[in-house]
Amino acid sequence: MSLLVVGTVAFDQIETPFGKTDKILGGAATFIGMAASMLEVRSGIVSVIGEDFPQEYVDLLASKNIDLAGIEKVEGGKTFYWAGRYRNDMNTRDTLATELNVLENFQPSVPTGWKNPDVLMLGNLHPLVQKTVLNQLETRPKLVILDTMNFWMDHTWDELMDVLKDVDVLTINDEEARQMSKEYSLVKAAKKILEMGPHTLIIKKGEHGALLFHENNVFFAPALPLEDVFDPTGAGDTFAGGFSGFLAKTQNYSFENMKRAIIYGSALASFTVEKFGTERLAELTDEELIQRLDVFKSLTNFDIELD
Ligand code: AMP
Repeated sequence: MSLLVVGTVAFDQIETPFGKTDKILGGAATFIGMAASMLEVRSGIVSVIGEDFPQEYVDLLASKNIDLAGIEKVEGGKTFYWAGRYRNDMNTRDTLATELNVLENFQPSVPTGWKNPDVLMLGNLHPLVQKTVLNQLETRPKLVILDTMNFWMDHTWDELMDVLKDVDVLTINDEEARQMSKEYSLVKAAKKILEMGPHTLIIKKGEHGALLFHENNVFFAPALPLEDVFDPTGAGDTFAGGFSGFLAKTQNYSFENMKRAIIYGSALASFTVEKFGTERLAELTDEELIQRLDVFKSLTNFDIELD
């Protein structure tokens, strides 16, 4: 049971109605890896950082038993930097800055020992980097999941469409699904996207949960109604980490098991939004996760008699 993760390891600077951070630890692969570590699955990250990346952050990731051999450190380079501001509804955010820095010339190299992962989680990153990693593997993983965002649709559409052909599951948010399919209805959007390559599609709807589409089946998982969402950054990646981690751990890639995986992803994401950045994930305990999974169970459990 192994999970290889590709994605950014980053500096994030976040503004919400609750406050503003300095440059803190962020990045898609960071959130994915930290979420998956809660599932005790063997995981490794392929990414790139600059010389400015603090040892303290490296130590934090290593303490979560994430294999960092695939993270290249560029001498004299600057780490990928992203800044975002959330509006009052906490669902809409404006990107204030995206500095690719070391990501610009990144040539990923999958370390020996990671060429046969069970599950490959291609986190949000340049689609060519995602494709290069897939091509470096010796055997095709049992499941390939890809996450992306509007930035890559705007700048690297053709490359994205190309890598999508080799992917099993795509995870995107509702806005991105609409942009990708040019359809407003998410059901119509899903139909179109499922013709682009993946056999399964997850559409994340923030505080409104997530939809799982596979052939003619649809499943819906709610998000936990929280009194205060403090910082949604990384919720989508945490979700992806929980989803991919659960599937790598259980080695069952059926639609039924994906439903469970979605609940794990949603439960983990509900923690991430409680504090800035990775703060909440870093301190999360197994007991807290189990309790929250139980809350999710009761949230959707009902009895109905049909005749
Ligand atoms: P999420 O809130 O789950 O959509 O993801 C937030 C994370 O995505 C942040 O930690 C950022 O560092 C990272 N991020 C932002 N823009 C990009 C981008 N263009 N490519 C890859 N990662 C990004």
